[in-house]
Amino acid sequence: MRSELYIDGKWRPSSDGRTFDVVNPATEEVIHKVAAATAEDVDVAVKSARRAFDKDGWPKLSGAQRAKYLRAIAQGIRARQAEIARLEVIDNGKPFPEADWDVADAAGCFDFYAGLAEQLDNNPEEPIALPDARFTSKAVKEPIGVAGAIIPWNYPLLMAAWKVAPALAAGCTVVLKPAEVTSLTALELAAIADDVGLPAGVLNIVTGAGSVAGQAIIDHREVDKLAFTGSGPVGSKIMAAAARDIKRISLELGGKSPFVVFDDADIEEAVEWIMFGIFWNQGQVCSATSRVLVQDGIYDRLLARLVEETKKIRIGNGLEDGVLLGPLVSKRQHQQVVAAIEAAKAAGATVACGGKRPDGFETGYYLEPTVLTDVPLESDAWREEIFGPVVCIRPFSTEEEAIDLANDSRFGLAAAVMSRDDRRAERVAAVFRAGIVWINCSQPTFTEAPWGGYKESGIGRELGRWGLENYLETKQITRFATGEKWGWYIK
Ligand code: NAD
Repeated sequence: MRSELYIDGKWRPSSDGRTFDVVNPATEEVIHKVAAATAEDVDVAVKSARRAFDKDGWPKLSGAQRAKYLRAIAQGIRARQAEIARLEVIDNGKPFPEADWDVADAAGCFDFYAGLAEQLDNNPEEPIALPDARFTSKAVKEPIGVAGAIIPWNYPLLMAAWKVAPALAAGCTVVLKPAEVTSLTALELAAIADDVGLPAGVLNIVTGAGSVAGQAIIDHREVDKLAFTGSGPVGSKIMAAAARDIKRISLELGGKSPFVVFDDADIEEAVEWIMFGIFWNQGQVCSATSRVLVQDGIYDRLLARLVEETKKIRIGNGLEDGVLLGPLVSKRQHQQVVAAIEAAKAAGATVACGGKRPDGFETGYYLEPTVLTDVPLESDAWREEIFGPVVCIRPFSTEEEAIDLANDSRFGLAAAVMSRDDRRAERVAAVFRAGIVWINCSQPTFTEAPWGGYKESGIGRELGRWGLENYLETKQITRFATGEKWGWYIK
């Protein structure tokens, strides 16, 4: 396990020598310590990224040359997939098969953006047709510069990949800060980048507190772009910080995503996808479909099956075979989710199952998967993100009512609909006010497709070609292409 900052191609302790604890959420044991970056460390990291961008030529490499590094990083991740997945489990708590999937996806993300980097070479200039024949014009794409990337703890390596891969493909250099509760795999990413010979300064990883290292990144005048995934309140701070010197930003924030199930849906399939939509990763998923709306014809039967299956979910240490629900990521997160369940009960909600620490799990941040009914529409449980394995479910009668309830949220990250009637599913998908819509499923995510939210769920899109655009500027180059005189002042 790495414990130092990775800055300018070197491992180093923080400038004041401070570290912070890495806690295994399944055992509550301190398993490691990592460096807590200071503002001074961040400054050194940004300056090295600046130099790598301005002087050392990373953006001047061809896309194909950058792609080679990205593919080598993908290979490096795959070569250590099981080991890295294990680190993710002891750091984040998620079950090993989920971590293994994340690590494979992270490698796939680097490969995907390697492909897009190569395409930048094939398609570097876009001619622009002008109405004045004396001029020719073209648009070119160029990297924005130094990207400051700040990520959350729910998919530690994957979130790093979603930012680092497109940024490097575009020709940007990066200073990345992982969440303080999950630093380990980002440091392994740095080690892999180092092994493949990524030039010094192109990728810098600074572990540490949001209020210190994160704040230093967002305040730094030499950072050109901020790419953030995390909570709404921190997203607002980042937007405000970016406003001071007009930094480019992309924000991927929270959600309270609806899942509408019509009564022609197969109940077993619906229960499966509802569970996948809220219990995967202990519900600590920004796009979790945490508000389930079920048409009244099947509501009672579906709820009974959901409760029955939810009670069967095997809870335990993510390293044990067969475990499908691990502990929450931290004590703080556990306390917050328990408090949200208590507040829901106080507001009138009924706990259909779960709602407490599971029996026999006195240690570890474990929580039973929880189904809440009778959740008042104005309560926080219905409106605010809980970010835990807690689903609110309620009946509806008509399509119109379902759409109104689904869209009645300040968030707009994701939404899902289930029906055997394709036309109805398409109709509902078209009116959801959300950036990601699933039909007859919930959560499958592909590197090729755009990811991001409407409303307070964020700005910009990650993944796919949209993810690359996040790190590119557009420049027009217009030429006065005749030998004629312009003749305005000088006749
Ligand atoms: P958070 O906002 O508290 O922290 C996210 C990151 O921001 C961390 O690295 C943290 O250290 C850093 N940070 C905190 N204060 C900062 C500051 N003042 N300046 C700069 N950086 C600062 O969120 P979290 O608790 O880590 O993650 C959970 C939240 O993230 C949830 O709300 C969830 O919905 C959201 N999320 C969204 C997506 C998405 O793709 N939209 C994905 C995952 C998580």
